[in-house]
Amino acid sequence: MTRTVYVNGQYLPEGEAKVSVFDRGFLMADGVYEVVSVLDGRLMDFAGHMARLTRSLEALQITNPLADEQYLEAHRQLVERNAITDGMVYLQVTRGNPGDRDFAFPPADTVPTVVMFTQSKPGLADAPAAKTGWKIVSVEDLRWGRRDIKTVQLLYPSMAKMEAKARGVDDAWLVEDGKVTEGTSNNAYIVKDGVIVTRALSHEILHGITRAAVLRLAAEAQMRVEERSFTIAEAQQADEAFVTSASAFVMPVVEIDGEPVGEGRVGEVATRMREIYLEESRKTAI
Ligand code: PMP
Repeated sequence: MTRTVYVNGQYLPEGEAKVSVFDRGFLMADGVYEVVSVLDGRLMDFAGHMARLTRSLEALQITNPLADEQYLEAHRQLVERNAITDGMVYLQVTRGNPGDRDFAFPPADTVPTVVMFTQSKPGLADAPAAKTGWKIVSVEDLRWGRRDIKTVQLLYPSMAKMEAKARGVDDAWLVEDGKVTEGTSNNAYIVKDGVIVTRALSHEILHGITRAAVLRLAAEAQMRVEERSFTIAEAQQADEAFVTSASAFVMPVVEIDGEPVGEGRVGEVATRMREIYLEESRKTAI
């Protein structure tokens, strides 16, 4: 089946979809994105992703070209037209095509580009890795200073992922001033004596939609949460570690820089948070 994608209001076969070579997203990574997971054909945490999209666009002074209901309609159309049961919908909004290349932002009436496509991932919630956990390595965080804006400049996270693969593990945790910021495409957590620890929100990390849900659900389950920075050494001595993202949900981490975390096995807290998160977000999916 040929995939149907969305470009600026049109649904097209992927081979016919086009964006200008002058698009600021292509030339300058001048754009933002969101990834919404689909389970059983329904969209998870959609409102949270729309709220963050609005924030990212405002931070870059890009006028949001569509209303949330229009994004919702397009998400639903793509899920239906591509017969997605489990997978995700990728959405990107760029500052558009000013017709030339210039460092200065184009006039405010330049029409933003909106591209959306689906990725099918059958059995997304049953990823075998959730049973065995991820191994990770640490690398220096060399990204820019506004990681709270979900921009498409993903070259450094992509390089960090390749470094992790080259070293035979699943992902990398990024470290700045001796403290873990986050994973290449996920938020990072440790668990010690029953307390869940994760870095506080700031410009230094992406404000994960899954992070917000997991911290809320942890509080509801009477678990203790501390929002503070931690080092790789502290993580290696923790009882458990895990990461969260819209597509990995809650993924246990069992090894950091060659050292086992706790017993080196998937921990109870990570397993429980994964279950609670999946159950709750399936219930609220739309
Ligand atoms: N941090 C970074 C750097 C990310 O790229 C992502 C995933 N896009 C996350 C955290 C997790 O965010 P979310 O839970 O909204 O997917």
